[in-house]
Amino acid sequence: MDSSRPTEAIHPYLERVDELCALIERRADAVDTGGPANELLRDNIARLAEIGFFGLGVPKHYGGLELPEWVKCESVERIAAACGVTAFSQNQFHGGVGFVGNASDPRLRDELMPKLSAGAILCGVAFAHLRRPTGSPVTAKRADGGYIVRGKAPWISDWSMMHAFVLGAAIEETGQTLFAYVDRAESADRLIASPPMELAVMTASDTVSVEIDDLFVTDAHVLQLCAADHMERSDYRGITGHVTLPLGCARGSVAFLRGLGKPLFAEAADCFSTEVESIRSDSLHWNASRADDPQYRQNALRVRAGAVSVALRAAQTSIAGGGGRSHLLVHPAQRRLREAGFYATMALTADTQAALTEAFTHGC
Ligand SMILES: Cc1cc2nc3c(=O)[nH]c(=O)nc-3n(C[C@H](O)[C@H](O)[C@H](O)COP(=O)(O)OP(=O)(O)OC[C@H]3O[C@@H](n4cnc5c(N)ncnc54)[C@H](O)[C@@H]3O)c2cc1C
Repeated sequence: MDSSRPTEAIHPYLERVDELCALIERRADAVDTGGPANELLRDNIARLAEIGFFGLGVPKHYGGLELPEWVKCESVERIAAACGVTAFSQNQFHGGVGFVGNASDPRLRDELMPKLSAGAILCGVAFAHLRRPTGSPVTAKRADGGYIVRGKAPWISDWSMMHAFVLGAAIEETGQTLFAYVDRAESADRLIASPPMELAVMTASDTVSVEIDDLFVTDAHVLQLCAADHMERSDYRGITGHVTLPLGCARGSVAFLRGLGKPLFAEAADCFSTEVESIRSDSLHWNASRADDPQYRQNALRVRAGAVSVALRAAQTSIAGGGGRSHLLVHPAQRRLREAGFYATMALTADTQAALTEAFTHGC
């Protein structure tokens, strides 16, 4: 994260985001209950692409807007306040943009980045399985001119919306980590997707598991070849990189509480709002650049758990404020409670699991 965020988050791009968020928020409950990859979610993603959202941090020579990181984080918070699944889906697609932007082969970057930046290619991600302590269920074996990849990727969101995805695999011979760009159309005969999972949250994200049947990935489509402990290191440096969605969710609840128009809930909204500001500021401080500081791990984990905790508590308070109607399936308070619970498991590691358990058991 960028620590150069101004105190007042003012930027012309945010006005465009706000305009779109007004529509996204009006649709949020319909998107949430509209089934996997419903038309409204697709339209939200298309409208984000139209305002250059997937090229927000992309260099201008690739057609991106090249805006500072804080503008992206603030935009994502606002989207997450409006609609969790739209925020989650864009998060996965931004993950694809980030990986291709860091591809070791400049030819791959030059070919794909303009299309990714414009949202003409939507590229998801499938690598959470690399974190499994029992070993990656997706493996790769060296072959002439590339790798043969096989196994089962247990989670891939936005399946029917994406044109491509970043696939993580452990290389059998060396244990190294391979990240490959997989074009769905070109690989269709090697990918067998499950039906969309029946989920209590993020149903619209069209999350599936995918069997990979001896998929040949050419060297030209290798994004990165990394050391065996790459995920562990990258998770360690990125502990506070996952606070944006829960903080946005908490902001949505803060607005809901204020809208109730009662001093009790206005006071609660003020408390949660102050907490959101403080956690955001701490997350900017305890970012990857401080990963070598002996205080980093403890503080970064506290910040991560704090973000999920404030999202959950603000949503619970909204339920109390909203009364019995909060339990209608299309009520924003319980939708946000489900979303906040989901953020507890995003990019989960043993460390974040322990920090969350500590926060939920004893308070932050
Ligand atoms: C709706 C939904 C959509 C998702 N979409 C995507 C997606 O698009 N792409 C993607 O890559 N991922 C996706 N995920 C995965 C997500 O990011 C998390 O990685 C996942 O939810 C973690 O849960 P798990 O049960 O799979 O974890 P596991 O992989 O089983 O474990 C998670 C962590 O817990 C710790 N752990 C687990 N078991 C042990 C043990 N026995 N001993 C010590 N430590 C242990 C490990 O540190 C491990 O890293 C999605 C998940 C959900 C629920």
